[in-house]
Amino acid sequence: MNCDDCRELFYEYLDNELDDMVRQRVERHLGECRVCRAEWQEITEALASYRNFVTTVSPGRDLTEDVLANLSGQERRQATVSFLFLGVAFMGILMFVGMCILLPLVYPILRVGLDLAINNLLPIPAIMLMAFPAAKTASLILLGLALLLMTWATRRAILY
Ligand SMILES: [Zn+2]
Repeated sequence: MNCDDCRELFYEYLDNELDDMVRQRVERHLGECRVCRAEWQEITEALASYRNFVTTVSPGRDLTEDVLANLSGQERRQATVSFLFLGVAFMGILMFVGMCILLPLVYPILRVGLDLAINNLLPIPAIMLMAFPAAKTASLILLGLALLLMTWATRRAILY
């Protein structure tokens, strides 16, 4: 067997596709020929590093864990959205309460300086407060509830 014949059979030899007689001839040539042996070694080494690369890169446990971590990340984002929503609601309630408390104080000043539209729109919370004294208590209860909801949403956002 010459070198060309031997090299032509490398891949069949690698895949164990040669019959015993041809396989023995290839092995005999590899034992005798330094050049073919070197080339054979190169092929097997390249193959080994390729297999090693595939094993290293192939999806394993880590990927599954990453996906799971991503899923809980999505839940975290959802919690953040509800957190933001509650934050906006909280700010709204806070502004309402602030208006209820502050407007009666600044209303006389506003009334002197501002026009008809402001006279008609801004006193509404103050009028409500005057008409329903319970509105103040209700506002404070709403504020407390908003704070509780915020605490719950924050805790949820941190835990998940
Ligand atoms: Zn050879």
